[in-house]
Amino acid sequence: MEQVFIKALPVLRTLIEAGHQAYFVGGAVRDSYMKRTIGDVDIATDAAPDQVQRLFQRTVDVGKEHGTIIVLWEDETYEVTTFRTESEYEDYRRPSDVQFITSLEEDLKRRDLTINAMAMTADGKVLDYFGGKKDIDQKLIRTVGKPVDRFQEDALRMLRAVRFMSQLGFTLSPDTEEAITKEKTLLSHVSVERKTVEFEKLLQGRASRQALQTLIHTGLYEELPGFYHQRENLLAASEFPFYSLTSREELWAVLLIDLEIDLKDAPLFLKAWKLPGKVMKEAIHIAHTFGQSLDAMSMYKAGEKSIVAAAKISQLRQNKRLDDEKLKDIQNTYQSLPIKSLKDLDFTGKDLLALRNRPAGKWVSEELQQIEQAVVTGKLSNQKKHIEEWLKTCAQH
Ligand code: ATP
Ligand code: MG
Repeated sequence: MEQVFIKALPVLRTLIEAGHQAYFVGGAVRDSYMKRTIGDVDIATDAAPDQVQRLFQRTVDVGKEHGTIIVLWEDETYEVTTFRTESEYEDYRRPSDVQFITSLEEDLKRRDLTINAMAMTADGKVLDYFGGKKDIDQKLIRTVGKPVDRFQEDALRMLRAVRFMSQLGFTLSPDTEEAITKEKTLLSHVSVERKTVEFEKLLQGRASRQALQTLIHTGLYEELPGFYHQRENLLAASEFPFYSLTSREELWAVLLIDLEIDLKDAPLFLKAWKLPGKVMKEAIHIAHTFGQSLDAMSMYKAGEKSIVAAAKISQLRQNKRLDDEKLKDIQNTYQSLPIKSLKDLDFTGKDLLALRNRPAGKWVSEELQQIEQAVVTGKLSNQKKHIEEWLKTCAQH
């Protein structure tokens, strides 16, 4: 048993000693069987949320009505979820109502994919009622039960299936793929926030190329915000190695570039994905910087982060790999700019007012901009007395 499970054993044992059933479930069991790095360790139990809260000193209620309590144990947090079924699905979305139950097998049955529907006992025994191990061995994404039924219950599962393809490098089982093609329009009932989470994970997976191509040939992409008429561009974007990027902003910048979205329409596109304002702004800034020349003034205006991001994107688009040396060069060129922002200028608006002896007005910022440009481009050194001399001889007001 891996260290992360051993660390979580006391939580399982506490539940078991109180007379309850308790198992490790979901992604951690899958990743353990696959010998991948294990993410969050989730626990399922037949104890009701109130009972879970009573058994542990430190808990956080994150959705008691859905059965989930977070247990803090040593320096870790564990989601402990009461066995449940989700019998009433409304509008192809997650159910508003759940029933707590006592059967592990029934709990596992409501999970989306066979590979996500395994459990592990406190002794490290894997319980696999739906052929999860076999599907992992065959690298197959398959729903627990009939895919059409499961997608009608919660249409997000279609996108999750493709997301796991990307992360694990698996293929869809033929019936799962067929069901996605058939039921794709149901995805329109799912909230944008849930789609965005899955789509970003999909992009970051090692097999994003295959996953994006599956989105295209099943037609599922049509139900993603702003993608409807983008088949060809999306196909081109599928060649981009998104997993080499390190931030959300960069992911979205690549999409803006590859989907050829006019930057004036970019806010609308990114808003449709309900991205935070900061991510939107940064993505647009990177896309704007991309393809610009790297002269001193444009570097200065763009800023280091965005220049490096745009250069990375450009290298990855061309060669599918990063040229670290070249990136370092670009960074050094930026670092050698005489100033990085107006506040580095050895001359202020106040200095200018004193020198010109004129009432303040728009001219101040205009003239400061001229000084800024002259300093950035190396025509003028960033020293107060040189700037003063330059102002006296060159710009006459
Ligand atoms: P990751 O490593 O990306 O977190 P994960 O398998 O833990 O992968 P989560 O999205 O965290 O995936 O979900 C945890 C578990 O809950 C899944 O393994 C699956 O058993 C179940 N699950 C999550 N979403 C759904 C859904 N929409 N329908 C059915 N079961 C789901
Ligand atoms: Mg998880």
